[in-house]
Amino acid sequence: MKHFDFPLDQFLSELETAVNIDSGTSDLEGCWKAARFYMERMTAAGLQAEIYPYGEENRPMVLGVTPGAPLPRFHTDAAEKTNPAMDCRPYDFLLVGHLDTVFPAGTVLARPFRLGESSPEDNLAGNGGGRVYGPGTVDMKAGALLMIYIAQYMADNYPEIKLCLVLDSDEETGSMESAPYMVDLGNQSRCAFVFEGGRKKDQFVNQRKGCNKYEIRIHGVASHAGTAPWDGASAIVELGRWITALDKLKNYGRRTTVNIGLISGGTAFNVVPDLATAKMEVRFTDEKEIVRVERALRRLQENPKVEGTHAEVICLASTAPLRLNPATENLMIQMKEYSPQYLDKIQAMQDLGLLTGPAWPADFVSAGGLSDANRLAPCGIPIIDGCGPGGGNPHSPDEFLSVDTVLKRFAYFTGFLPWISGYRAG
Ligand SMILES: [Zn+2]
Repeated sequence: MKHFDFPLDQFLSELETAVNIDSGTSDLEGCWKAARFYMERMTAAGLQAEIYPYGEENRPMVLGVTPGAPLPRFHTDAAEKTNPAMDCRPYDFLLVGHLDTVFPAGTVLARPFRLGESSPEDNLAGNGGGRVYGPGTVDMKAGALLMIYIAQYMADNYPEIKLCLVLDSDEETGSMESAPYMVDLGNQSRCAFVFEGGRKKDQFVNQRKGCNKYEIRIHGVASHAGTAPWDGASAIVELGRWITALDKLKNYGRRTTVNIGLISGGTAFNVVPDLATAKMEVRFTDEKEIVRVERALRRLQENPKVEGTHAEVICLASTAPLRLNPATENLMIQMKEYSPQYLDKIQAMQDLGLLTGPAWPADFVSAGGLSDANRLAPCGIPIIDGCGPGGGNPHSPDEFLSVDTVLKRFAYFTGFLPWISGYRAG
């Protein structure tokens, strides 16, 4: 397979199969079905592949390696956990994706894989590449499939470069159970590319916010609201005060967002409520912001204004941001340096009539949403996200993939991975 003769028809037909398997995170049977599809596809591509069950529910994680590379070994024992020198790591490149979607079972029946026309907003001016609609097209069934095509190309042409592919199945609910495995894989790799959908103008993602989730439980004292309100202590009134105070903690200048997304409390009109709860998420780029938020939470907790109430603050989840480290900055420089060669390839494809849309040099943006890149961040290796084909409207019924971005990303990575590995003519 050459860069130019990417088998687009085959790719789209396999993508149709993948998209038409419901694989919402909570649809475990669907996730296993999708996992088997990807594993078989990896095997057909000449990779060594397996499904590794993980977590309490035996979720499927698909693992694949190029010939000659060992399948990953997980270090469940903390004492066994290692962070080996870069030269001793079995994988040059870790390609990361997820096979789950946000859509429940039955979605495929209602709106299966469907081809549609391109729109000028797709950055596709003049391109007949078209769109693919369907649940999980851009987030991220196309990216997961493209990882396999890239690995096959590398195995066929550069067998000495070792790749490991991983697809987990709980990314859309925060990768709570796959996170330790991701870290373990990151520690066995020199570099990671996450194949979430590419951004506008084919930009890659180099930073993501972190996210902490809190539950606040205010306990008060119940009493009859008509005959003895003075005996009660309203948890709802106290929570109201917390909500306005917490909302003031957002700071868009520092890229910190605060959202109280759920509240509940009380039992009846005539009862002073003895319980009120709120759920809040805080997204941040700078860890100091979390210190600031937690200080404010403590201040509120230590100084109740409604006498007789007290508060519990529970941190439900804490995800570190994906931040730029020197290793990632160095990788970005190389990705930019490779751009002229990439654009030459695109020009050649345009000359052959395979692509007519525009292409851009490698560029990077930061994103507000989380991904498995956040889980890999503690490894300290260079990580670039948004490496998959692009499209729009993820997590919505209008989700689509821009077909030409499949060709562009394939061209980019099948050129860049050899180039950065020293095959400069790549
Ligand atoms: Zn995703």
